[in-house]
Amino acid sequence: MSGRQYPEQSDSKPIQPDMPATDSTVATTDSAAAGGDAWERVTMRMRQDIGEAAWRNWIKPLRVSRLEDGTLTLEASSMLARERVTSQYADRLRVISAAEYGTVRKVEISLASHQAPRMSQQKRAPSTAGAAAGAPLGAGLDPRYTFANFVVGKPNELAFAVARRTAESATVAFNPLFLYGGVGLGKTHLMHAIAWHIREQDPSRNVVYLSAEKFMYRFVQALRFRDTMSFKEQFRSVDVLMIDDVQFISGKDSTQEEFFHTFNALVEDGRQVIVSADKSPTDLEGLEERLRSRLGWGMVADIHPADYELRLGILQAKAERARIAVPDKVLEFLAHRISSNVRELEGALTRIAAHASLVGREITIDSAAELLSDLLRASSRQVSIDEIQKRVAAHYDVRVAEMFSARRARNVARPRQVAMYLAKTLTSFSYPEIGRQFGGRDHTTVMHAVRTIEGLVGSDNRIAEDVQLLRSLIAS
Ligand code: ADP
Ligand code: MG
Repeated sequence: MSGRQYPEQSDSKPIQPDMPATDSTVATTDSAAAGGDAWERVTMRMRQDIGEAAWRNWIKPLRVSRLEDGTLTLEASSMLARERVTSQYADRLRVISAAEYGTVRKVEISLASHQAPRMSQQKRAPSTAGAAAGAPLGAGLDPRYTFANFVVGKPNELAFAVARRTAESATVAFNPLFLYGGVGLGKTHLMHAIAWHIREQDPSRNVVYLSAEKFMYRFVQALRFRDTMSFKEQFRSVDVLMIDDVQFISGKDSTQEEFFHTFNALVEDGRQVIVSADKSPTDLEGLEERLRSRLGWGMVADIHPADYELRLGILQAKAERARIAVPDKVLEFLAHRISSNVRELEGALTRIAAHASLVGREITIDSAAELLSDLLRASSRQVSIDEIQKRVAAHYDVRVAEMFSARRARNVARPRQVAMYLAKTLTSFSYPEIGRQFGGRDHTTVMHAVRTIEGLVGSDNRIAEDVQLLRSLIAS
């Protein structure tokens, strides 16, 4: 119950022209998130084309507003600027944007929202008070992260289907929806896609996407300013709340508490809550038990690492969208050799494309291998501590969370020591780094574990066998 009123005007304070024009709203993208790199490249090419002075006057002040259905909407800060850009630079912008974004077919110049009448959904955005005044509640959305741009394969088909269903249903479908999977496998992409879809279908629904870190930051700020009431109010006026990477909420008790209450209030009130994490609810370490189980009540969908087919599909789709001619053989080679996350696949493709366009020669397997030697080497040898922890936990049939827990019972302490030993011998991480990745332990603890297991491998057959088996599983 809040007896306080938050005046509408605290939300409509004028936006500084040098801020991303859409920064004041939860409903649109900001320029940094809106395909930041691609836009950066577009403006850099424009600069070369039209010269520094014209660029500074007309192109530099433009802000990316959105990219939807192949139309890139840019915001000009004044009527004059809009007319000038439309009449003189729009064509060039379209051509360059088409090349850099891959998906752009049309460019539109609109007037920045602090110049134009404010959109209805901005009015709906909860006004913020105290510490948070003026700052947007949610974060921007990447215009490339749409369903249309998501390549579906076996490893992600469940997550994709569930995400689509959630986005399409007018009522709350699964609540909460919990998406989890390793780094770079498309969790953020799917969340943004849901947000884009809902906003397109029904702009009146208040969709807020933010990282768990940002959520925490806002909460801590609210605490500092003794303004947790308005913090709660803000979140409770949201129709769809998405919190990305909730593993970062772990640990901080008060934030967990607040998260739990905000979460319950929203779910009980029939709002859609969507959460992502790098682990399943049961494996999220450092999370309060009731929060952990609460998170798993709705729909839990995992994204598995991309298999060869999916990697190839993603590479083909990205090459096609970006209109880069890469021979099939080269794409297959990349799909074979870069087995880690999708972000690395993208990086490899971008590098190859940049090289090809500079050198103007056809890409071959050899040139690709040479160009990407660092990436290929890293991915063929890289073993992550995360993977070691998972394998070891599975082998000994203990929860992955025990790798980080403080419990000293032999049945969990021994597997933890084995995992530390393997981390030391199979990766290049230092003792302190390993300690950090095992729930913030001291480096001396890791050294002790390594020495203990080294000793046992020589004296205890079972441990020796375990280690050997695990080593071969992990290294393969
Ligand atoms: P996560 O949030 O799981 O770490 P992201 O959603 O940030 O991963 O994805 C990393 C990059 O890989 C993004 O650029 C995303 O667009 C891309 N990506 C991941 N999965 C797919 C997919 N199935 N199809 C197309 N792009 C993908
Ligand atoms: Mg992410």
